[in-house]
This record gives sequence, C-alpha cells and structure tokens, in this order.
Amino acid sequence: MQRSVGVLGAGQLGRMLALAGYPLEVSFRFLDPKSGSPAGQVAEQLVAGWDDGAALERLAREAEVVTFEFESIPEPAARRVSELTPVRPPPEALAIAQDRLVEKNFFSELGIPTARYVNVTSLAELESAAREIGLPAVLKTRRLGYDGKGQYLIRQESELSPAWQAVGGAPSILEAWVPFERELSQLAVRGIDGTTAFYPLVENHHDKGVLRLTIAPAARAGEELERAARDAVRKIFERLDYVGAFALELFEVDGKLFANEFAPRVHNSGHFTIEGAVTSQFENHLRAILGLPLGSTALRGYSAMVNMIGNVPEPAELLALPDAHVHLYGKGPAPGRKLGHVTVCAPDAATRDQRARAACQVVGWLPQKPPF
Ligand code: AMP
Repeated sequence: MQRSVGVLGAGQLGRMLALAGYPLEVSFRFLDPKSGSPAGQVAEQLVAGWDDGAALERLAREAEVVTFEFESIPEPAARRVSELTPVRPPPEALAIAQDRLVEKNFFSELGIPTARYVNVTSLAELESAAREIGLPAVLKTRRLGYDGKGQYLIRQESELSPAWQAVGGAPSILEAWVPFERELSQLAVRGIDGTTAFYPLVENHHDKGVLRLTIAPAARAGEELERAARDAVRKIFERLDYVGAFALELFEVDGKLFANEFAPRVHNSGHFTIEGAVTSQFENHLRAILGLPLGSTALRGYSAMVNMIGNVPEPAELLALPDAHVHLYGKGPAPGRKLGHVTVCAPDAATRDQRARAACQVVGWLPQKPPF
C-alpha cells in the first residue's frame, strides 16, 4: 500500500524527509507559502498561506498522517489539520517549542535543569530581572527566536535599555549566561507504541547563534552524561505522548547538563545520520509517524557535518575529500541562509577530525575553539 504523508513546511528538512521516504514508497505533499521551496523541488507542494483553510483541509484529507518540518508554523494551522487527520508529533509539542517562556516552564515542571530565567514584559521588569539573575545574561524574545535571532547578550547595566529597544519591547525572557564548556544535542525518536531509540550524544559548534559543525559521536560523553540526556528526553516524551524524531539542545558545564531548547522535529545536528548512522533521523521520523518499526540508531563510525551558510563552495572541492557527502538544498544564496551541508565519515576519530578540518577549510569557516 502506498503510504502518504502531508508536511507543513517545505524547507530543507522536508526535502530530506522526502528523499528518505521514496525508497519506502511514501508519497509526500508539502504545504508552504513560498513557491519553489527546497521540498517543492522534489515533491508536490501546495503553495498556500498558513491560514488557507481549504489548502489545510486538502493536505489533511489526502494524507494518512501530517507532520511538520518548520517550527514557526502558526499553531492554529496544525490544530486545524489535527481535527481531520492525525498530526505527529503532537501539536502541543510545537506550541511549547514556539514560546521560550512556556518551554522553560515546561523544563522546570519536569525537573529538567535549565539556565535561570525570568519573564520580562517591560524595561522595569528587565532591570529587576537583571538584578535577580545577574549579568551577563541573554535577553530572548519569547516567540520567533531561532538560530540566535531575537537574542541579545547583556554584559552591563547600560546595555539593558538598548537591548529592550532592540527586541522592540516584545515579550521576552532574561536568561542567565551559561559559561558552557561545550554544546551537545541528544537526538531521539519515539514510535506510536512508545518504543524509544536514542542516537549517541553529539557535539555542536555554533557561530553567532547558528549551528556550523556537528561532531558525532561527542568525545568524552560518559555514561553519566548520556543517562542524564536520555532521562530528560524520556520525561518529555512521556509527558507529551510524543511520536517522531526529536532533538534536545544542551549545555555542558562541569559534567552537568542544562537544557537550552528542544526541537519537535528532525534537527540540523542530526543531518550526519544520513551517512553516519544505520538509520537516518529522517527515515526514523517517517517510520515513527507511520507506525513502522524504528530502525537502529547505532553509528556506522565517526562523522562530522559542516553547514554551508551564505554561500556554497565549488562542490567538486568537497567531493574530492575522502568519504565526503554533499547535500545541497536548492536555495538561492543570501547572508546567513543555510544552503547545504557536507558530512565526512571515517573509521576512527583522528581521521574524521582531519577530514572535518579539510571540509571546514573548503566551506570557509573554522571553529574559534578548534575541537580538532
Ligand atoms: P538558541 O537560539 O537559544 O538555541 O541559542 C543559539 C545559541 O546561542 C546557542 O546554541 C548558544 O551557543 C548561544 N546561547 C543561547 N543561550 C545561551 C545562554 N544562556 N548562555 C550561553 N550561550 C547561549
């Protein structure tokens, strides 16, 4: 039987979902207001707004399950679709992830350690929050903040008012600055029957709030770290009766983990799984939402993923590297835009590091604190 999946959003995550689903004869239809989107280049796309009731209804009626690949989808759109067909992951997960205050409260309720934070709705509240939390701290808008957008680092009192102006007085949180040793993410997937599978912890390197490099597996991730990360994800899964792929972004400080945020979808730090794991996060997401058995999350060896942001080098230069796999998203160049990624694989960590360094050089970005 041909399986059919509807997807809200048609970016690169959707494109990679479709590419993972075709070998299983899964058909896709995407909905996104932007025509010619990355997923729309490889599958059917309904070009319609998030408030287009007829398009949402069509997507829902002609798919056995609907999922999302874009986090800022207005929640009413996901809710409307869920009245007609199952939406997996649950729209509640989307609603929580879209609002930093709700998300931080959610972590706190579940007893998941996270940086201290205070709700801020005025400059006066920001000033008192800064006294309570101390500086440096990060002002983050509650909504529409991702990849470092809507975030302002405040080092001293004189920066409070400019930061408040910079967010345009939008409802925000002030969050304690975390002097982390490194950033990790825990990728996981949960099936309809509650079966859960975890990928090994991976290490992430950001630049100006945007992910640039993922190293898999994370070095020195002992049993304790792994257990803490998995326990946190398990709590979230159970509370939401979650189904699908999932990522929890974490800060590591003195051997302890603090949750930064979660993504109720396939995640950029999981792109390496296409070549670097037995089953990719994309295939596992589809298996989960379609009620199929989950695939092994074991790694095939060592890998690193480097994002191409703003511009793409000559692909031949990357393809000349051993065991390098290039993924281009079909997007026009623009500053800060994620246009593609390259994954390098290797049988051991030292060779992986050497290949990752070479890939970073070709892409034109090198980490400030070189991990290799
Ligand atoms: P976010 O959009 O919350 O994922 O933040 C993007 C990046 O900014 C993170 O991956 C960190 O590198 C950095 N960052 C965010 N919040 C904090 C914090 N409280 N302390 C230190 N770094 C942070």
